[in-house]
Formats: sequence, C-alpha cells, structure tokens
Amino acid sequence: MALNWFKKKKHKQEEKAPSDQKIDEVPEALETEDPTDAKAFGDNDNREHQKLEDETPRPLQTNDQESDQAATKKSSGFFKRLKSGLAKTREILTTDINDLFTGKRKIDDELLEELEELLITSDIGVQTTMDLIQSISVRSSEITGPDQLKNILRENILELLNATVKPSQGIVDKPHVIMVIGVNGVGKTTTIGKLASRFSSSGKKVIIAAADTFRAAAIEQLTIWADRAGVDIIKHKEMSDPAAVAYDGIQAAVARDADIVIVDTAGRLHTRKNLMEELKKIKRTISKKLPGAPHEILLILDATTGQNALSQAQLFNDALDVTGIALTKLDGTAKGGIVISICNALEIPLNYIGVGEKIEDLQEFDPTEFVNALF
Ligand code: GDP
Ligand code: MG
Repeated sequence: MALNWFKKKKHKQEEKAPSDQKIDEVPEALETEDPTDAKAFGDNDNREHQKLEDETPRPLQTNDQESDQAATKKSSGFFKRLKSGLAKTREILTTDINDLFTGKRKIDDELLEELEELLITSDIGVQTTMDLIQSISVRSSEITGPDQLKNILRENILELLNATVKPSQGIVDKPHVIMVIGVNGVGKTTTIGKLASRFSSSGKKVIIAAADTFRAAAIEQLTIWADRAGVDIIKHKEMSDPAAVAYDGIQAAVARDADIVIVDTAGRLHTRKNLMEELKKIKRTISKKLPGAPHEILLILDATTGQNALSQAQLFNDALDVTGIALTKLDGTAKGGIVISICNALEIPLNYIGVGEKIEDLQEFDPTEFVNALF
C-alpha cells in the first residue's frame, strides 16, 4: 500500500519540479528598479529601530572561568532557549503528527498524504519531504503509533543533517575578517552584535566595521550593539563609500592588534545588480588590504521567508562565494523545517541559528540538539 503511494508520488513529482529546486524562478522579482519592490527581496526596512535602545544589555558570559557545573547549566539553558525558539515548528511536527493517528493504528496512504502536507507546511521542501516519506513507507510495518513515526522521522532527519557540509576550521589568521551579507531586515546587524559579544566574551579583541552606510540609522543601530558587546566600531558618515569603511576597519584591527573584524554591509540598493557589485567591491578591497581576507563570508537568512531564503542563498553565493549561513528568526516561525531544506539543498554549511532577539539567542548549529528540540 505504502509502495503504491510512493509510485504515485514519484509520478506527480516528475510532472512538477520540486519547489526547493526552483531557485531561479523567484529572483526575477528582484531585477526591479523600484526600491519599493524590494519586498520580494525580503525587505522589512520600515521596522522600528527605536526599541533597541529600550532593551537592557545582557551580561556577557565568561567561558574561560566557568566551572563544569556552570557549563552544564549554561548548555541546558541554551537547549531551553532552542526548544522554546522552535516551539511553533515543534507544534506542527509533534502535535499534528499525534493527530494523524486519531482513530487509526496503522500507516496508510491517507496518513502518508497528510504527513506529506504537514512536512511541506513546515518548509522541509518537496524533495526532502518525498525522501522522508519514502523511508517511512519502507518501514511502515514497524509503525503502530505516533511515537514510532516520530522516532523514525528524527533518525532520518538527523542523518540528513549530519551528512551536510561542515563549517571549516576556526580562527587561524589575525585579524580574522568576517564579511556579513544578506538582504535588508534579515538580521545582519543583530547577528553581528551577538557574534561580537560571543567572541569578545571568549577573550577575542573584536572590531566592527559599519559598512552599511546606506542609512544613518543603520550605523546608529550597529553602534548600540558594539557598545553592548563592549567592542570597538569603525564608522564613517552616512552614504560614504562602504569599501573605505571596511578598509579602515582592517587597518584599525592591524594597528590595535585585534583578533577579529566583522564587516556589516547594506542589504538594499536600487537594483540587485548594484547590491552584488557593491558587495564584490567591498570584498576586493578587503582582499587587497589583507591578502587571504575575508576569511568568512557569512550570509544571513531569515527563516520566516521560507523557501525564498534558498533563492537568496543561491544569488549571494553565485556572486560572492558564501562560506557559511546564519539562519535567524527560527523563533518566529512554524516553518523551522527550512533548516533541513537549507542543509539538504545547499552546499554551504549552516553555522549559526538565531532563536530570539537577545545576545544569547544566537547558537552554533548542532544537528543533534536541533532534532532533539524538534521532537
Ligand atoms: P538587517 O537589516 O539585516 O541588519 O537586520 P537587523 O539586524 O536590523 O534585524 C531586523 C529585525 O530582526 C530586528 O528587529 C531584530 O531584532 C530581528 N531579529 C534578528 N534576529 C532575530 C532572531 O533570531 N529572532 C527574532 N525574533 N528576531 C530577530
Ligand atoms: Mg543592518
């Protein structure tokens, strides 16, 4: 029975290309000359920056002096935050899976159809969903209730996540330069603040370069985060040359013996082409100033934009050779399955996930913890 389901699906799938491979369809909207159309680019620039100032800065952690007990406490705190951040996605994956079995004790075609819909709703992606359903249909005789089904899903998802590309070696060069890119509103500045604070609390000297010179508010927002994290910031006037700010950031890092430079960048220019050219120019300037740099090009993606995040990754990667991804706002979405799509569809490691707006809400992506938090 389950096998019939799979044949039927396979046929359907051949007729219709899976959405997680239709990467070049969405971006056409991005060719627009009209900046108001930047919505297609995931832009949400009308947000209030004001509330940032109302937030109380968080105390920074001191990794070096922690006792084992404190470390365990911290890691369970991290897991709690991860779990609560993923609450909306977990609700779909667990509550709704329980519901699938209402009045049923066995897997049948109808149940598999419903499960398929559920997985796609959580943004796991069509192709990955098909693969997961196939594995489940093969093992359907083992499944007599929701718990077995969840266990098999957990195993399969973990296997997928573990098979993805791993982040490369840590910090070797000094200064180590991280260029942060992504469209407006995805969380670049926030993630830079969180990262700066992490590095700084682990004893690294950090300099932030405010190379998003597009709006004065962007420079102010980054300055607030730099203060919170207790790190230096290099900034110029609004509308000044972003590449020059990046250049000065590296110069300052060398002069001040800093370990890490994090370069913020703009996410919106009038056309997509302009944005990519601007970013390429910043990258070239960084390499000229410091051969081998930037050591990391960190792309920020917003989980709430769903499959659109994959299109963005493709575009930025084509232009700039992204070395890693930070996926933000997993706490604001029931579509946390996008993590699985990203790991599966892209050859870029998922380095960090953001599960809230606070400094401690940026976590290194750990497949096992992620799956444990989901089910
Ligand atoms: P940028 O335009 O890419 O620099 O984006 P910002 O850093 O200014 O972030 C845009 C908004 O997203 C801000 O209101 C942030 O507080 C919020 N944000 C960033 N990361 C997260 C996250 O992981 N979870 C939540 N809930 N909000 C986030
Ligand atoms: Mg910003």
